[in-house]
Amino acid sequence: MLSYINGKYLPKEEITISPDDRGFLFADGLYEVIRSYDGRLFQFQEHMARLNYGARQLRFNVTEFDSLLDVAENLIDQNGLKEGDALIYIQVTRGVAPRLHKFPPAETPLTVYATPRPFTPRRDELENGIGVLFVPDVRWARCDIKQVGLLPNVLAHQRAVESGAAEAVFVRDGAITEGTHSNVFAVISGQVITPPRTNYILGGITRRVVLRLCKELNFPFAERALFEHEARRADELFIAGTTVEITPVVKVDDQEVGSGRPGILTRRLQEAFEKFKGKQR
Ligand code: PLP
Repeated sequence: MLSYINGKYLPKEEITISPDDRGFLFADGLYEVIRSYDGRLFQFQEHMARLNYGARQLRFNVTEFDSLLDVAENLIDQNGLKEGDALIYIQVTRGVAPRLHKFPPAETPLTVYATPRPFTPRRDELENGIGVLFVPDVRWARCDIKQVGLLPNVLAHQRAVESGAAEAVFVRDGAITEGTHSNVFAVISGQVITPPRTNYILGGITRRVVLRLCKELNFPFAERALFEHEARRADELFIAGTTVEITPVVKVDDQEVGSGRPGILTRRLQEAFEKFKGKQR
């Protein structure tokens, strides 16, 4: 795959990263995963706004990455990914410097990397739903920053997979926060509920689209604390994210959600999402 590193395009195998890169040493970096549908990048500006926000929060010396649009479009083009689904992975780190906790000199260039890959959606999961495992949220208190230190997410997701579930959902102080790579929604008595945007969750791009679709469809919705006990007894549950889109959740741990089948509002949101995709660049 032709990929991008610090201003150059190279085959991915030829890209090397310094062992002194702060992304490697400290997880001092940010990332984005952007979906492309038939060569159209989905919500690209929104992804860049989140990357810019993260860069400001981490006090990077560059905090504006909108020009990566050209890079992303080039990668899709040059790698023959204009048909079907693809993902663009972007990572930006604080660059290369001797291993010291303090920031490197202000002029140290950031490391900027981008690589695409074809992506096959899990049609079976979109259609039939998935099981999730509820796990304690042991992450730090800045989950609003999409930073590359994903060890708690990796460990939780692995636990879920080993128990036969497709995703782990974090629970903090009795309330649902989010999945390891998705946001969580419940439908309770006809209302769509999702945890509010705080420092404890990532402001998901798909989450935002789902809320917009709720508004358009006149579905009652609320961004409010979603307690674990409520989520376990919800009529419907689903996760939302760039890779999972809107995936119904039909099982939590060993218990069925609602009827044990994807719910009606979840289905209607999936349909609306399909239409919305078609209209977006
Ligand atoms: N929450 C976490 C922790 C994530 O890692 C992700 C995506 O990877 C999401 C939520 C969903 O965000 P988005 O819809 O922007 O992909």
